[in-house]
Amino acid sequence: MKFNPVLDNLVSYEAGKPIELVVRDFGIDPKDVVKLASNENPYGCSPKVQQAVGDIVSKMALYPDDSMYKLKAGLSKRFNVDEKEIIIGAGSDQVIEFAIHAKANAQSKILINSITFAMYEIYAHHIGAEVIRTKSREHDMDEFYELYLEHKPSIIFLCVPNNPTGESVDAKAVKEFIAKIDKETLVIVDGAYMEYTHYKDPSKALMPDELVASFENVLYLGTFSKAYGLGGMRVGYGIASRDIIMALYKLRPPFNVTTLSLEAASVALEDEAFVEFSIAKNFEEMGRYDAFAKKMGIQTIDSYTNFVTLCLNDDQDSTELADVLLRQGMIVRNLKGYGLNAIRVTIGTPAQNDRFFELTEPLLS
Ligand SMILES: *Cc1c(COP(=O)(O)O)cnc(C)c1O
Repeated sequence: MKFNPVLDNLVSYEAGKPIELVVRDFGIDPKDVVKLASNENPYGCSPKVQQAVGDIVSKMALYPDDSMYKLKAGLSKRFNVDEKEIIIGAGSDQVIEFAIHAKANAQSKILINSITFAMYEIYAHHIGAEVIRTKSREHDMDEFYELYLEHKPSIIFLCVPNNPTGESVDAKAVKEFIAKIDKETLVIVDGAYMEYTHYKDPSKALMPDELVASFENVLYLGTFSKAYGLGGMRVGYGIASRDIIMALYKLRPPFNVTTLSLEAASVALEDEAFVEFSIAKNFEEMGRYDAFAKKMGIQTIDSYTNFVTLCLNDDQDSTELADVLLRQGMIVRNLKGYGLNAIRVTIGTPAQNDRFFELTEPLLS
């Protein structure tokens, strides 16, 4: 059977390896497997979510509340935006998909950073759009502007802070950039790690209410998968002008987020103390990665997220390192596919990080 030709050269997203796979493939005891590959919260989620999820079991037979009233009300309050300026997706991933389908087509160009979140390109290729990349490893707003003038893209993605490098841009520079972009171009600000950035350096934090109030062409994305510890629940959101949200809504399948996920996210949003605890611990532990890198004579990229990118020296190989670690039950992300001789490590609990240092030190010496 012949399929849509865009599928011919389409590369699928490579998800972080699950713990179960390492248990099966290498016969390692599950308790000895450490997964630091997908930027999940190593402290789990708010204990209040566990209670709430238990209570929801009695409602499983019914379809979810398709208006997503409770979670929208929570987000509206948290971010000081109108409920009509919010869309909720099965992960912010799904909102990215809606946005690309809503704004672009096979004749469109989509501008992204040289190294960035893989799904932008994958969804762009689904519709046959052309992807334009910057050259700089880190977001350079001047270069983005030059490429914008040259190519007139339909969509510009700014991943701030960026995955998989962890770098971020000053909020002021981002806003000055957006102010120069014509209102027909959709600028997507992906704030998947914004909670961490806000804690480390508020001058790099972008607030959705301010963006939406200033720019009718901006879509801000957030997720419950990282700081809120709900990666398995698949809940993310987009915040933008009503105009943009209405367009995205046309592409949304009904009941795209389950009752269980909506409830978990609503309750998680209320437990600010848990999120603050996770973030404070994250940066405390990140300091140990910086010290480790220094000791081993390798470079890191200054990170505003819950992961650190370790850039290896020329005589070291990230594919080999990731592979040897995997065989010992330590799952990290190899960045060779992104053109970097580097690994990305999610900051784990103190014990998980100890294990990482213990296993990695002899491999880098
Ligand atoms: C994790 C991540 C997302 C989306 O996560 P979902 O689980 O789909 O909400 C989006 N953008 C970036 C940069 C991410 O790292």
